[in-house]
Amino acid sequence: MNIAFVGMGIMGKPMAVNLKQAGHTVFVHGRRPETMAQPVEAGCAGCTTIADAAAQAEIIIVMVSDTPDVEQVLFGENGVAAGAKPGAVVVDMSTISPTATRAFADTLQARGIEMLDAPVSGGEVGAINATLSIMVGGKPDVFERVKPVFEAMGKNIVRVGDHGAGQVAKACNQIVVAVTIEGVAEALTFARKNGVDPARVRDALMGGFAGSRILEVHGKRMLDNDYTPGFKTKLHQKDINIVMQTAKELGLALPGAALVMQHLNALMGTGGAELDSAAVMKIVERESGMERE
Ligand code: NAP
Repeated sequence: MNIAFVGMGIMGKPMAVNLKQAGHTVFVHGRRPETMAQPVEAGCAGCTTIADAAAQAEIIIVMVSDTPDVEQVLFGENGVAAGAKPGAVVVDMSTISPTATRAFADTLQARGIEMLDAPVSGGEVGAINATLSIMVGGKPDVFERVKPVFEAMGKNIVRVGDHGAGQVAKACNQIVVAVTIEGVAEALTFARKNGVDPARVRDALMGGFAGSRILEVHGKRMLDNDYTPGFKTKLHQKDINIVMQTAKELGLALPGAALVMQHLNALMGTGGAELDSAAVMKIVERESGMERE
């Protein structure tokens, strides 16, 4: 298949390379030309504009940062809408607002272009190994058409529902992850303040109901006081902001997520933007005078 891929970041680059390796013809565009070097070396064709890439493709994948970025890529000057042929499918794999996603799908539909929202979970490792979980929103027949392309990038591929449903599932994922990180940080700090070894507490908890991937992976980062990302705080803050914005639109109370949002804000304000979001632990510790070096 002819595929355009826009957004050559941590995630986009290996995903485009995996598509090429699966036998597709891939036209890539990176806002900074140097970011296309590695995919071009792997056999992808580099394009100067987004419209150029889109014009040559049946499927146009977008993997950029936030909601305004997707809007600009789709509808900005020399963007996707300026190049895509009627009948093409836009697949937005960025994590963005479900509400905006539904509006983008409607605008594209009016121009004869289909859309799927397909955000992912699994991080850079999942992107490199083609083991991403992919949460999809959109029409069932369009999903079936694109499924072989998803299979070159991921393993657990679920059509959740109509337009926006993939982004809703991703927001749910981020609520569970954020609130669990907060819970693990509080529990391990509680252990230390009681004079009990938090590492032994984590060992004891791993086999019971409190056991989780977050206790295992993020709990280890907290014990080691090593917040090399992983998933950066600035991206987790962006995602929880999407959650809170959507909850506000719906008149929905999410007090747990709101509390973690405040801790992510505090972490951003104290130089933590580039740290793994498990560094919420630093804020929990600071609030009770429990800082470590
Ligand atoms: P990233 O490394 O920061 O890459 C984002 C890419 O998008 C960059 O190449 C950037 O270009 C490009 N971009 C941003 N705004 C643009 C615009 N307006 N026009 C054109 N290009 C634009 O981010 P990432 O880690 O690949 O994440 C991409 C998306 O996947 C995000 O929505 C993120 O939340 C989501 N995600 C990430 C992870 C993860 O572990 N990293 C996991 C799951 C989901 P420049 O290079 O010029 O800045």
